[in-house]
Amino acid sequence: ERQREAIVQALENVTVRLEEEKAHLTELDSAIGDADHGTNMARGFSGANEKVKDMDEAEPAELVKTIGVTLVSEVGGASGPLYGGSIMSASQEFADEGITAETSVAFAEAYLEKVQDRGGAEVGAKTMVDALTPAVHTYKKSIETDDLAPLEALAKAVDAAERGVGFTTPIRAKKGRASYLGWRSVGHQDPGATSTLFIVEELLATAQ
Ligand code: ADP
Ligand code: MG
Ligand code: MG
Repeated sequence: ERQREAIVQALENVTVRLEEEKAHLTELDSAIGDADHGTNMARGFSGANEKVKDMDEAEPAELVKTIGVTLVSEVGGASGPLYGGSIMSASQEFADEGITAETSVAFAEAYLEKVQDRGGAEVGAKTMVDALTPAVHTYKKSIETDDLAPLEALAKAVDAAERGVGFTTPIRAKKGRASYLGWRSVGHQDPGATSTLFIVEELLATAQ
């Protein structure tokens, strides 16, 4: 029950944040894409928020899966299947024990793996993977090697994601719409890496 409330609260915080950042994300996408990332994300998460609010009896894995399913159907574009499909399949990590430090690491790793399977982007292709990879690796190392509490690990993951977002600006896009611009994509921050950072920031804010 406590986990259900935490998920609902996290989802609400993410939804509010993406609504606030809608114009910002769309502006980033207008420089190197088709100017819809902010509206895509805000629409998707507000849809997920509506769905999950009424699922009073659901287990964590089912709630998280529903978020993924809703994102797939509501976000669209390149980012819908990447965010939604990956959340959907990674939600299985919560099936047996719910959310623990250990299963949260497993979820993060499974999510990153799915995003890379589906999108085929390596670090340095100027995508969400550039924020996600350092965040997930830092989270895992903080918990498994440095023995930090999930909250502190998440704070380190936010810092890592932030650096990852910064790293997208000077590089050339190799995946997604921005790659059509070739060298002209240089000098612009990636929208999907930025929305990934906002989501991780809101997970931290919820946990605090
Ligand atoms: P679309 O480009 O279809 O309009 P969005 O604007 O919602 O979709 O999302 C764009 C973001 O999706 C990019 O900023 C990038 O971070 C991410 N993205 C695009 N293609 C890929 C990919 N192959 N792998 C990982 N992320 C990708
Ligand atoms: Mg777009
Ligand atoms: Mg689009």
